[in-house]
Amino acid sequence: AKGLGKNNIQFYTPSMTTEFHQQFLMVNDLMKAIQEEQFILHYQPKVDPKTRKIKGAEALIRWNHPERGILPPDHFIPLAEETNLIIDLGDWVIGEVCKQIKQWLDGGNTIVPISINISAKRFLKDDLVSKLQMILAETNIDPKWLEFEITETSLIQNEIKVLATINALKESGIAISLDDFGTGYSSINYLKKFKVDFLKIDRSFINAIHSSFDDEAIIKSILYLAQELKIKVVAEGVETEEQLDFLLKHKCSLIQGYLFSKPVDVAAFSQLLSKSNDW
Ligand code: C2E
Ligand code: CA
Ligand code: CA
Ligand code: CA
Repeated sequence: AKGLGKNNIQFYTPSMTTEFHQQFLMVNDLMKAIQEEQFILHYQPKVDPKTRKIKGAEALIRWNHPERGILPPDHFIPLAEETNLIIDLGDWVIGEVCKQIKQWLDGGNTIVPISINISAKRFLKDDLVSKLQMILAETNIDPKWLEFEITETSLIQNEIKVLATINALKESGIAISLDDFGTGYSSINYLKKFKVDFLKIDRSFINAIHSSFDDEAIIKSILYLAQELKIKVVAEGVETEEQLDFLLKHKCSLIQGYLFSKPVDVAAFSQLLSKSNDW
């Protein structure tokens, strides 16, 4: 095998199946990519549906692959999870977002809180909070500019540990968002147990606005419930004015989706942000 560095897996033999061989090459590739920081973040605005001003953004990772070009997360996040590389990758994302925030602030820009996707594996590893504190100290960022998006997969584990982690994160000033809400098994139960700041209604529900009464009923109920529990709601995957109207009518706090903007690179996002502040 080529490029055997000290961190590369070295037990490849020719008898491996093609699929396994592919996977093997891909893992090597991914390890190298992490060492060489071949990743970039795109930012997708979260917008106030009333004023259409940008109130936040989600950082979404892409692999800027030297041969294959820009790869979306579904091409490598599952493998990163399987191999635990997601821990290092996740820490890179937190560091990169903090550096970006610092750069915006140093440049005198008005900014918005940036949310980071935290995989369940990363969330459940003991050193998340200490690593975060370290990165915050290094970059000297006020944690009010950060949000963590976690999914139910993070919550179904050891309840006491999960509670402790959520509380520690909230104590350090990070807002927490429950991602892909409505797609899991006992979403509503979690709202009672864990005090999150935001929940994000999954795109599959938003898609169905104006075509499924059932999905509309679910969205309305989520919005009503969240209001009662004083949790803010973000709708993801908003693509049409009709969806926006529906969400506005039912008092959704923020919308995110192609209607306003796809995820874009730092330069384009900075531009969107300064335009939004001019209005
Ligand atoms: P997610 O957290 O549910 O992110 C939303 C996904 O929906 C993004 O896909 C975004 O580009 C896409 N999206 C946003 N608005 C629209 C819309 O109006 N229509 C459609 N069709 N799609 C829309 P993306 O960037 O490909 O990310 C996919 C998933 O990869 C994310 O789903 C998240 O689970 C994961 N991911 C992305 N970045 C990271 C990261 O830094 N760390 C971890 N652990 N996971 C990440
Ligand atoms: Ca997300
Ligand atoms: Ca989501
Ligand atoms: Ca989703």
